[in-house]
Amino acid sequence: MVSWEQVIQPRTRQLLAELLARDALLCPVPVAIYARISMDKEQDARGVARQIDAAVERIHAEPTWRLPAPPFVDNDMSASKGLPRPEYARLMAAVGRGEARVLVVKMTGRMWRNRKERAQGMEHLGKHLVRVIATGGQDLDLSTSSGRVITGILGELDTYETEQMSERLRDEAVQRAKDGLPSGARSYGYTATGEIIQDEADIIRACVDRLLDTRRDTSVRALVLELQAANVPTVRGGTWSPTTVRAILRNPALAGLRTFKGEVVAPGRWEPIISEQTHARLLARLRAASLPAGWSARSKHLLSNIATCGKCGCGLLASAGTKYVCPPRERGGCRGVGRNMAALDAYVETIVVDLLSTPEILAALVREDMADPLAAVQAAADVEAAQARAAALGAAMAGDDPADEVTRIMRKTQAETIRVALTAARARQAALVEATVFEGLGGVTPAEMAAHWASLALQRRRTLIRAMVTVTVLPGRRGLSTFDPTAVRVERRTRVETTTR
Ligand SMILES: [Zn+2]
Repeated sequence: MVSWEQVIQPRTRQLLAELLARDALLCPVPVAIYARISMDKEQDARGVARQIDAAVERIHAEPTWRLPAPPFVDNDMSASKGLPRPEYARLMAAVGRGEARVLVVKMTGRMWRNRKERAQGMEHLGKHLVRVIATGGQDLDLSTSSGRVITGILGELDTYETEQMSERLRDEAVQRAKDGLPSGARSYGYTATGEIIQDEADIIRACVDRLLDTRRDTSVRALVLELQAANVPTVRGGTWSPTTVRAILRNPALAGLRTFKGEVVAPGRWEPIISEQTHARLLARLRAASLPAGWSARSKHLLSNIATCGKCGCGLLASAGTKYVCPPRERGGCRGVGRNMAALDAYVETIVVDLLSTPEILAALVREDMADPLAAVQAAADVEAAQARAAALGAAMAGDDPADEVTRIMRKTQAETIRVALTAARARQAALVEATVFEGLGGVTPAEMAAHWASLALQRRRTLIRAMVTVTVLPGRRGLSTFDPTAVRVERRTRVETTTR
Protein backbone atom coordinates (compact mmCIF):
# COMPACT_ATOMS: atom_id res chain seq x y z
CA MET A 1 0.00 0.00 0.00
CA VAL A 2 1.22 3.45 -0.95
CA SER A 3 1.32 6.04 1.82
CA TRP A 4 0.15 9.62 1.39
CA GLU A 5 3.72 10.88 1.83
CA GLN A 6 4.61 9.34 -1.52
CA VAL A 7 1.80 10.95 -3.50
CA ILE A 8 1.55 14.52 -2.18
CA GLN A 9 2.60 17.30 -4.55
CA PRO A 10 6.32 18.28 -4.45
CA ARG A 11 5.18 21.78 -3.45
CA THR A 12 3.15 20.34 -0.55
CA ARG A 13 6.17 18.41 0.61
CA GLN A 14 8.22 21.60 0.60
CA LEU A 15 5.55 23.65 2.39
CA LEU A 16 5.01 20.93 4.93
CA ALA A 17 8.70 20.96 5.84
CA GLU A 18 8.57 24.73 6.15
CA LEU A 19 5.43 24.71 8.36
CA LEU A 20 6.90 22.07 10.64
CA ALA A 21 10.02 24.19 11.06
CA ARG A 22 8.23 27.49 11.79
CA ASP A 23 9.40 29.31 14.90
CA ALA A 24 7.02 29.07 17.86
CA LEU A 25 7.71 32.69 18.88
CA LEU A 26 7.08 34.20 15.45
CA CYS A 27 4.18 31.87 14.67
CA PRO A 28 2.36 31.39 17.98
CA VAL A 29 -0.77 29.57 16.70
CA PRO A 30 -0.40 25.78 16.71
CA VAL A 31 -2.40 24.10 13.96
CA ALA A 32 -3.22 20.47 13.25
CA ILE A 33 -4.26 18.77 10.01
CA TYR A 34 -6.65 15.88 10.09
CA ALA A 35 -7.31 13.87 6.92
CA ARG A 36 -9.41 10.82 6.43
CA ILE A 37 -10.66 8.89 3.46
CA SER A 38 -13.31 6.27 3.68
CA MET A 39 -13.15 4.25 0.51
CA ASP A 40 -9.61 4.09 -0.73
CA LYS A 41 -10.41 1.49 -3.36
CA GLU A 42 -7.14 1.76 -5.24
CA GLN A 43 -5.23 1.81 -1.96
CA ASP A 44 -3.08 4.57 -3.40
CA ALA A 45 -3.71 7.17 -0.69
CA ARG A 46 -4.38 9.83 -3.34
CA GLY A 47 -7.61 10.97 -1.70
CA VAL A 48 -5.82 11.68 1.54
CA ALA A 49 -2.94 13.35 -0.29
CA ARG A 50 -5.35 15.78 -1.98
CA GLN A 51 -6.85 16.74 1.39
CA ILE A 52 -3.36 17.39 2.72
CA ASP A 53 -2.37 19.43 -0.34
CA ALA A 54 -5.33 21.76 0.32
CA ALA A 55 -4.75 21.94 4.08
CA VAL A 56 -1.07 22.80 3.71
CA GLU A 57 -1.85 25.62 1.23
CA ARG A 58 -4.40 27.03 3.67
CA ILE A 59 -1.99 27.01 6.63
CA HIS A 60 0.82 28.44 4.53
CA ALA A 61 -1.36 31.51 3.85
CA GLU A 62 -1.46 32.36 7.58
CA PRO A 63 1.86 33.88 8.76
CA THR A 64 1.13 33.27 12.45
CA TRP A 65 0.31 29.59 12.09
CA ARG A 66 2.67 26.65 12.48
CA LEU A 67 2.44 22.86 12.50
CA PRO A 68 3.82 21.27 15.68
CA ALA A 69 3.19 17.77 14.26
CA PRO A 70 2.80 16.13 10.84
CA PRO A 71 -0.76 15.59 9.56
CA PHE A 72 -2.95 13.11 11.42
CA VAL A 73 -4.14 10.67 8.79
CA ASP A 74 -6.63 7.81 9.00
CA ASN A 75 -6.70 6.09 5.66
CA ASP A 76 -9.20 3.62 4.26
CA MET A 77 -11.60 3.48 7.13
CA SER A 78 -15.27 3.63 6.45
CA ALA A 79 -17.06 6.42 8.23
CA SER A 80 -20.06 4.40 9.27
CA LYS A 81 -18.43 1.09 10.17
CA GLY A 82 -17.20 2.27 13.54
CA LEU A 83 -13.68 0.93 13.21
CA PRO A 84 -11.13 2.51 15.51
CA ARG A 85 -9.37 5.58 14.16
CA PRO A 86 -5.96 5.70 15.84
CA GLU A 87 -4.94 9.05 14.36
CA TYR A 88 -8.20 10.75 15.33
CA ALA A 89 -7.59 9.58 18.90
CA ARG A 90 -4.03 10.95 18.77
CA LEU A 91 -5.33 14.24 17.41
CA MET A 92 -7.88 14.62 20.22
CA ALA A 93 -5.14 13.91 22.75
CA ALA A 94 -2.97 16.62 21.14
CA VAL A 95 -5.91 19.06 21.36
CA GLY A 96 -6.24 18.15 25.04
CA ARG A 97 -2.60 19.09 25.59
CA GLY A 98 -3.12 22.48 23.91
CA GLU A 99 -1.05 21.50 20.87
CA ALA A 100 -3.67 22.68 18.36
CA ARG A 101 -5.79 25.82 18.45
CA VAL A 102 -6.84 25.49 14.83
CA LEU A 103 -7.79 22.29 13.11
CA VAL A 104 -7.72 22.09 9.31
CA VAL A 105 -9.85 19.44 7.63
CA LYS A 106 -11.40 18.94 4.20
CA MET A 107 -14.97 18.73 5.42
CA THR A 108 -16.25 18.63 8.95
CA GLY A 109 -18.44 15.72 7.95
CA ARG A 110 -15.31 13.62 7.64
CA MET A 111 -14.36 14.03 11.25
CA TRP A 112 -17.27 12.35 12.99
CA ARG A 113 -19.11 9.22 12.08
CA ASN A 114 -22.19 9.40 14.27
CA ARG A 115 -24.09 11.69 16.59
CA LYS A 116 -22.39 10.44 19.70
CA GLU A 117 -18.88 10.84 18.34
CA ARG A 118 -19.76 14.30 17.05
CA ALA A 119 -21.15 15.41 20.40
CA GLN A 120 -18.04 14.19 22.18
CA GLY A 121 -15.72 15.74 19.58
CA MET A 122 -17.54 19.09 19.69
CA GLU A 123 -17.43 19.19 23.45
CA HIS A 124 -13.71 18.47 23.46
CA LEU A 125 -12.87 21.02 20.75
CA GLY A 126 -15.18 23.58 22.35
CA LYS A 127 -13.58 23.14 25.74
CA HIS A 128 -10.15 23.84 24.24
CA LEU A 129 -11.47 26.71 22.06
CA VAL A 130 -10.38 25.11 18.81
CA ARG A 131 -11.43 26.62 15.50
CA VAL A 132 -12.14 24.19 12.72
CA ILE A 133 -11.21 25.30 9.22
CA ALA A 134 -12.75 23.28 6.41
CA THR A 135 -10.95 23.61 3.08
CA GLY A 136 -13.91 22.09 1.27
CA GLY A 137 -16.86 23.39 3.25
CA GLN A 138 -18.14 25.30 6.22
CA ASP A 139 -15.68 26.51 8.90
CA LEU A 140 -16.69 26.04 12.50
CA ASP A 141 -15.94 28.12 15.50
CA LEU A 142 -16.48 25.93 18.48
CA SER A 143 -15.46 28.63 20.93
CA THR A 144 -18.90 30.24 20.57
CA SER A 145 -22.35 28.81 21.28
CA SER A 146 -23.70 29.91 17.86
CA GLY A 147 -20.77 28.11 16.26
CA ARG A 148 -21.67 24.97 18.13
CA VAL A 149 -25.32 25.16 17.03
CA ILE A 150 -24.24 25.43 13.39
CA THR A 151 -21.85 22.52 13.89
CA GLY A 152 -24.69 20.45 15.25
CA ILE A 153 -26.96 21.22 12.31
CA LEU A 154 -24.25 20.54 9.75
CA GLY A 155 -23.45 17.31 11.49
CA GLU A 156 -27.07 16.17 11.38
CA LEU A 157 -27.02 16.77 7.64
CA ASP A 158 -23.82 14.75 7.26
CA THR A 159 -25.27 11.88 9.25
CA TYR A 160 -28.38 11.99 7.10
CA GLU A 161 -26.30 11.84 3.93
CA THR A 162 -24.18 8.97 5.21
CA GLU A 163 -27.28 7.01 6.13
CA GLN A 164 -28.88 7.70 2.78
CA MET A 165 -25.77 6.65 0.95
CA SER A 166 -25.46 3.39 2.81
CA GLU A 167 -29.15 2.67 2.22
CA ARG A 168 -28.69 3.30 -1.47
CA LEU A 169 -25.57 1.13 -1.66
CA ARG A 170 -27.34 -1.61 0.26
CA ASP A 171 -30.38 -1.50 -2.02
CA GLU A 172 -28.15 -1.80 -5.07
CA ALA A 173 -26.20 -4.68 -3.55
CA VAL A 174 -29.41 -6.52 -2.62
CA GLN A 175 -30.75 -6.10 -6.12
CA ARG A 176 -27.55 -7.39 -7.69
CA ALA A 177 -27.67 -10.40 -5.38
CA LYS A 178 -31.30 -11.15 -6.18
CA ASP A 179 -30.50 -10.93 -9.87
CA GLY A 180 -27.78 -13.53 -9.35
CA LEU A 181 -25.05 -11.19 -10.58
CA PRO A 182 -21.47 -11.69 -9.34
CA SER A 183 -20.61 -9.74 -6.19
CA GLY A 184 -17.67 -8.10 -7.93
CA ALA A 185 -15.11 -9.64 -5.58
CA ARG A 186 -12.85 -12.22 -7.15
CA SER A 187 -13.07 -15.66 -5.61
CA TYR A 188 -10.83 -18.61 -6.38
CA GLY A 189 -11.92 -20.30 -9.61
CA TYR A 190 -13.51 -17.19 -11.12
CA THR A 191 -12.66 -13.74 -12.37
CA ALA A 192 -14.37 -10.81 -10.63
CA THR A 193 -16.97 -10.82 -13.41
CA GLY A 194 -17.75 -14.51 -13.01
CA GLU A 195 -15.77 -16.19 -15.79
CA ILE A 196 -14.18 -19.52 -14.91
CA ILE A 197 -10.40 -19.55 -14.61
CA GLN A 198 -9.65 -22.98 -15.99
CA ASP A 199 -6.43 -23.74 -14.05
CA GLU A 200 -8.08 -22.84 -10.76
CA ALA A 201 -11.25 -24.75 -11.60
CA ASP A 202 -9.12 -27.85 -12.26
CA ILE A 203 -7.45 -27.48 -8.86
CA ILE A 204 -10.85 -27.12 -7.19
CA ARG A 205 -12.24 -30.22 -8.93
CA ALA A 206 -9.14 -32.24 -8.02
CA CYS A 207 -9.42 -31.19 -4.35
CA VAL A 208 -13.13 -31.99 -4.30
CA ASP A 209 -12.61 -35.43 -5.83
CA ARG A 210 -9.92 -36.24 -3.32
CA LEU A 211 -11.95 -35.09 -0.32
CA LEU A 212 -15.11 -36.89 -1.35
CA ASP A 213 -13.31 -40.15 -2.14
CA THR A 214 -13.98 -41.89 1.16
CA ARG A 215 -11.72 -44.78 0.25
CA ARG A 216 -8.75 -42.45 0.43
CA ASP A 217 -9.90 -40.42 3.41
CA THR A 218 -7.79 -37.42 2.39
CA SER A 219 -7.54 -34.62 4.94
CA VAL A 220 -7.59 -30.92 4.17
CA ARG A 221 -4.11 -30.72 5.63
CA ALA A 222 -2.86 -33.31 3.14
CA LEU A 223 -4.30 -31.21 0.29
CA VAL A 224 -2.54 -28.14 1.64
CA LEU A 225 0.80 -29.93 1.65
CA GLU A 226 0.27 -31.12 -1.94
CA LEU A 227 -0.69 -27.64 -3.16
CA GLN A 228 2.37 -26.19 -1.50
CA ALA A 229 4.63 -28.92 -2.89
CA ALA A 230 3.27 -28.31 -6.40
CA ASN A 231 3.83 -24.54 -6.04
CA VAL A 232 0.24 -23.78 -6.97
CA PRO A 233 -0.36 -20.03 -6.54
CA THR A 234 -3.16 -18.72 -4.30
CA VAL A 235 -5.33 -15.77 -5.32
CA ARG A 236 -3.05 -13.32 -3.53
CA GLY A 237 0.18 -15.21 -4.05
CA GLY A 238 0.35 -16.24 -0.40
CA THR A 239 0.77 -19.68 1.09
CA TRP A 240 -1.97 -22.28 1.36
CA SER A 241 -3.44 -23.08 4.74
CA PRO A 242 -6.30 -25.32 5.83
CA THR A 243 -8.34 -22.16 6.37
CA THR A 244 -7.84 -20.93 2.80
CA VAL A 245 -8.59 -24.34 1.32
CA ARG A 246 -11.74 -24.71 3.41
CA ALA A 247 -12.89 -21.20 2.53
CA ILE A 248 -12.39 -21.84 -1.17
CA LEU A 249 -14.16 -25.19 -1.16
CA ARG A 250 -17.08 -24.03 0.97
CA ASN A 251 -17.84 -21.11 -1.33
CA PRO A 252 -21.44 -21.59 -2.62
CA ALA A 253 -20.43 -19.67 -5.77
CA LEU A 254 -18.64 -22.83 -6.96
CA ALA A 255 -22.03 -24.50 -7.23
CA GLY A 256 -23.47 -21.46 -9.04
CA LEU A 257 -25.22 -20.13 -5.93
CA ARG A 258 -25.34 -16.40 -5.23
CA THR A 259 -25.11 -15.47 -1.56
CA PHE A 260 -25.82 -12.20 0.18
CA LYS A 261 -24.52 -11.65 3.71
CA GLY A 262 -23.85 -15.35 3.99
CA GLU A 263 -27.24 -16.51 2.75
CA VAL A 264 -27.96 -18.19 -0.57
CA VAL A 265 -30.42 -15.83 -2.24
CA ALA A 266 -30.51 -16.79 -5.91
CA PRO A 267 -29.05 -18.99 -8.60
CA GLY A 268 -25.97 -17.21 -9.94
CA ARG A 269 -25.68 -16.16 -13.54
CA TRP A 270 -22.38 -17.92 -14.05
CA GLU A 271 -21.20 -21.38 -14.87
CA PRO A 272 -20.83 -23.64 -11.82
CA ILE A 273 -17.61 -25.57 -11.27
CA ILE A 274 -19.25 -28.25 -9.13
CA SER A 275 -22.87 -29.38 -8.79
CA GLU A 276 -25.11 -28.33 -5.89
CA GLN A 277 -25.17 -31.94 -4.77
CA THR A 278 -21.37 -32.05 -4.67
CA HIS A 279 -21.34 -28.74 -2.84
CA ALA A 280 -23.64 -30.15 -0.17
CA ARG A 281 -21.52 -33.29 0.20
CA LEU A 282 -18.44 -31.13 0.46
CA LEU A 283 -19.92 -29.00 3.22
CA ALA A 284 -20.85 -32.15 5.08
CA ARG A 285 -17.38 -33.59 4.57
CA LEU A 286 -15.60 -30.42 5.72
CA ARG A 287 -17.97 -30.13 8.62
CA ALA A 288 -17.33 -33.75 9.59
CA ALA A 289 -13.65 -32.90 9.92
CA SER A 290 -14.46 -30.47 12.71
CA LEU A 291 -17.29 -32.14 14.56
CA PRO A 292 -19.03 -30.81 17.69
CA ALA A 293 -18.25 -31.91 21.23
CA GLY A 294 -18.52 -35.63 21.80
CA TRP A 295 -17.52 -36.17 18.20
CA SER A 296 -14.32 -34.32 18.69
CA ALA A 297 -11.02 -35.28 17.16
CA ARG A 298 -9.73 -35.34 20.71
CA SER A 299 -11.35 -38.73 21.21
CA LYS A 300 -8.49 -41.11 20.67
CA HIS A 301 -10.45 -44.25 21.48
CA LEU A 302 -13.00 -45.95 19.31
CA LEU A 303 -15.84 -46.26 21.79
CA SER A 304 -15.27 -43.60 24.44
CA ASN A 305 -18.54 -41.75 24.98
CA ILE A 306 -20.23 -44.10 22.50
CA ALA A 307 -20.41 -47.19 24.72
CA THR A 308 -22.63 -46.48 27.73
CA CYS A 309 -22.85 -47.89 31.23
CA GLY A 310 -25.54 -50.57 31.66
CA LYS A 311 -26.13 -49.47 35.24
CA CYS A 312 -26.39 -45.69 35.01
CA GLY A 313 -26.43 -44.84 31.30
CA CYS A 314 -23.36 -42.62 31.45
CA GLY A 315 -20.91 -42.59 28.50
CA LEU A 316 -17.83 -44.70 29.21
CA LEU A 317 -14.38 -43.14 29.17
CA ALA A 318 -11.02 -44.62 28.29
CA SER A 319 -8.83 -45.43 31.25
CA ALA A 320 -5.07 -45.82 30.87
CA GLY A 321 -5.63 -46.69 27.21
CA THR A 322 -6.52 -50.29 28.11
CA LYS A 323 -10.05 -50.14 29.52
CA TYR A 324 -13.38 -48.38 29.13
CA VAL A 325 -14.84 -47.43 32.49
CA CYS A 326 -17.92 -45.71 33.82
CA PRO A 327 -16.63 -42.39 35.20
CA PRO A 328 -16.80 -41.48 38.90
CA ARG A 329 -19.86 -39.80 40.42
CA GLU A 330 -18.48 -36.27 40.16
CA ARG A 331 -18.32 -36.72 36.38
CA GLY A 332 -21.84 -38.08 36.14
CA GLY A 333 -21.15 -41.83 36.29
CA CYS A 334 -21.36 -44.62 38.85
CA ARG A 335 -18.06 -46.44 38.34
CA GLY A 336 -20.26 -49.51 38.00
CA VAL A 337 -18.75 -51.13 34.89
CA GLY A 338 -15.45 -51.47 33.07
CA ARG A 339 -14.34 -53.50 30.06
CA ASN A 340 -11.17 -54.44 28.26
CA MET A 341 -10.74 -51.94 25.48
CA ALA A 342 -9.18 -54.05 22.73
CA ALA A 343 -11.74 -56.83 23.23
CA LEU A 344 -14.75 -54.50 23.22
CA ASP A 345 -13.46 -52.57 20.19
CA ALA A 346 -12.94 -55.78 18.22
CA TYR A 347 -16.35 -57.13 19.19
CA VAL A 348 -18.23 -53.98 18.16
CA GLU A 349 -16.25 -53.53 14.96
CA THR A 350 -16.98 -57.10 13.90
CA ILE A 351 -20.71 -56.48 14.33
CA VAL A 352 -20.61 -53.20 12.45
CA VAL A 353 -18.58 -54.60 9.56
CA ASP A 354 -21.03 -57.50 9.36
CA LEU A 355 -23.91 -55.05 9.09
CA LEU A 356 -22.14 -53.05 6.39
CA SER A 357 -21.28 -56.23 4.51
CA THR A 358 -24.96 -57.15 4.27
CA PRO A 359 -26.03 -55.61 0.95
CA GLU A 360 -29.65 -54.91 1.96
CA ILE A 361 -28.66 -53.22 5.19
CA LEU A 362 -25.94 -51.18 3.51
CA ALA A 363 -28.31 -50.15 0.72
CA ALA A 364 -30.91 -49.04 3.27
CA LEU A 365 -28.33 -47.06 5.23
CA VAL A 366 -27.06 -45.29 2.13
CA ARG A 367 -30.58 -44.62 0.91
CA GLU A 368 -31.79 -43.08 4.17
CA ASP A 369 -28.58 -41.16 4.30
CA MET A 370 -29.20 -38.64 1.50
CA ALA A 371 -29.14 -35.22 3.03
CA ASP A 372 -31.14 -32.50 1.39
CA PRO A 373 -28.44 -30.53 -0.46
CA LEU A 374 -30.20 -27.19 -0.21
CA ALA A 375 -30.82 -27.69 3.50
CA ALA A 376 -27.11 -28.38 3.97
CA VAL A 377 -26.18 -25.27 2.04
CA GLN A 378 -28.66 -23.21 3.98
CA ALA A 379 -27.52 -24.54 7.36
CA ALA A 380 -23.89 -23.77 6.54
CA ALA A 381 -24.87 -20.31 5.34
CA ASP A 382 -26.89 -19.70 8.52
CA VAL A 383 -23.94 -20.63 10.69
CA GLU A 384 -21.67 -18.29 8.78
CA ALA A 385 -24.22 -15.48 8.86
CA ALA A 386 -24.60 -15.82 12.63
CA GLN A 387 -20.82 -15.84 13.04
CA ALA A 388 -20.55 -12.71 10.92
CA ARG A 389 -23.22 -11.02 13.04
CA ALA A 390 -21.36 -12.01 16.19
CA ALA A 391 -18.14 -10.56 14.79
CA ALA A 392 -19.89 -7.34 13.79
CA LEU A 393 -21.46 -7.06 17.22
CA GLY A 394 -18.07 -7.61 18.85
CA ALA A 395 -16.57 -4.84 16.72
CA ALA A 396 -19.46 -2.51 17.54
CA MET A 397 -19.16 -3.23 21.26
CA ALA A 398 -15.51 -2.28 21.23
CA GLY A 399 -16.61 1.29 20.55
CA ASP A 400 -19.28 1.36 23.27
CA ASP A 401 -19.09 3.58 26.28
CA PRO A 402 -18.72 1.12 29.18
CA ALA A 403 -20.71 3.42 31.46
CA ASP A 404 -23.70 3.48 29.12
CA GLU A 405 -26.18 1.15 30.81
CA VAL A 406 -28.85 1.31 28.08
CA THR A 407 -26.36 0.25 25.41
CA ARG A 408 -25.06 -2.52 27.63
CA ILE A 409 -28.53 -4.03 28.07
CA MET A 410 -29.24 -3.70 24.35
CA ARG A 411 -25.96 -5.45 23.49
CA LYS A 412 -26.77 -8.27 25.85
CA THR A 413 -30.07 -8.87 24.09
CA GLN A 414 -28.41 -8.71 20.68
CA ALA A 415 -25.71 -11.17 21.76
CA GLU A 416 -28.31 -13.56 23.11
CA THR A 417 -30.32 -13.45 19.86
CA ILE A 418 -27.20 -14.26 17.86
CA ARG A 419 -26.22 -17.05 20.24
CA VAL A 420 -29.64 -18.69 19.91
CA ALA A 421 -29.53 -18.44 16.10
CA LEU A 422 -26.01 -19.87 15.99
CA THR A 423 -26.84 -22.78 18.28
CA ALA A 424 -29.90 -23.66 16.21
CA ALA A 425 -28.02 -23.46 12.91
CA ARG A 426 -25.17 -25.61 14.27
CA ALA A 427 -27.61 -28.24 15.52
CA ARG A 428 -29.29 -28.40 12.11
CA GLN A 429 -25.92 -28.64 10.42
CA ALA A 430 -24.72 -31.40 12.74
CA ALA A 431 -27.95 -33.33 12.14
CA LEU A 432 -27.45 -33.07 8.38
CA VAL A 433 -23.85 -34.22 8.66
CA GLU A 434 -24.81 -37.28 10.59
CA ALA A 435 -27.38 -37.91 7.93
CA THR A 436 -24.62 -38.28 5.36
CA VAL A 437 -22.19 -40.48 7.25
CA PHE A 438 -22.59 -43.38 4.82
CA GLU A 439 -21.49 -41.28 1.90
CA GLY A 440 -19.15 -43.28 -0.31
CA LEU A 441 -19.79 -46.65 1.31
CA GLY A 442 -22.37 -47.56 -1.34
CA GLY A 443 -19.68 -48.58 -3.80
CA VAL A 444 -17.79 -50.91 -1.46
CA THR A 445 -18.46 -54.63 -2.03
CA PRO A 446 -19.08 -56.99 0.93
CA ALA A 447 -15.76 -58.72 0.22
CA GLU A 448 -13.90 -55.41 0.46
CA MET A 449 -15.75 -54.09 3.49
CA ALA A 450 -13.47 -55.34 6.28
CA ALA A 451 -10.37 -53.97 4.57
CA HIS A 452 -12.16 -50.73 3.74
CA TRP A 453 -13.26 -50.37 7.36
CA ALA A 454 -9.72 -50.86 8.60
CA SER A 455 -8.51 -48.14 6.24
CA LEU A 456 -10.93 -45.53 7.63
CA ALA A 457 -9.76 -42.88 10.05
CA LEU A 458 -10.72 -43.33 13.69
CA GLN A 459 -13.12 -40.39 13.74
CA ARG A 460 -14.94 -41.68 10.70
CA ARG A 461 -15.27 -45.15 12.22
CA ARG A 462 -16.65 -43.55 15.40
CA THR A 463 -19.16 -41.61 13.33
CA LEU A 464 -20.31 -44.73 11.52
CA ILE A 465 -20.58 -46.84 14.67
CA ARG A 466 -22.53 -44.11 16.36
CA ALA A 467 -24.93 -43.83 13.47
CA MET A 468 -25.56 -47.57 13.28
CA VAL A 469 -25.63 -49.03 16.77
CA THR A 470 -25.89 -48.39 20.48
CA VAL A 471 -23.38 -50.16 22.73
CA THR A 472 -24.34 -50.86 26.33
CA VAL A 473 -21.80 -52.44 28.66
CA LEU A 474 -23.52 -54.56 31.33
CA PRO A 475 -21.93 -55.50 34.65
CA GLY A 476 -19.67 -58.51 34.11
CA ARG A 477 -19.89 -61.79 35.97
CA ARG A 478 -17.51 -61.93 38.89
CA GLY A 479 -14.39 -64.02 38.41
CA LEU A 480 -14.69 -64.21 34.63
CA SER A 481 -11.38 -63.13 33.15
CA THR A 482 -12.10 -63.48 29.43
CA PHE A 483 -14.32 -61.13 27.38
CA ASP A 484 -17.96 -62.09 27.73
CA PRO A 485 -20.12 -61.11 24.72
CA THR A 486 -23.32 -61.70 26.70
CA ALA A 487 -22.37 -58.83 29.00
CA VAL A 488 -22.48 -56.31 26.11
CA ARG A 489 -25.62 -55.25 24.33
CA VAL A 490 -25.10 -53.97 20.80
CA GLU A 491 -28.36 -52.83 19.20
CA ARG A 492 -29.01 -51.46 15.78
CA ARG A 493 -30.49 -48.04 15.61
CA THR A 494 -33.86 -48.38 13.93
CA ARG A 495 -33.03 -45.63 11.46
CA VAL A 496 -30.28 -43.18 10.90
CA GLU A 497 -30.85 -40.99 13.90
CA THR A 498 -29.82 -37.42 14.10
CA THR A 499 -29.12 -37.06 17.79
CA THR A 500 -26.60 -34.44 18.73
CA ARG A 501 -24.77 -33.90 21.94
ZN1 LIG B 1 -22.38 -46.27 35.40
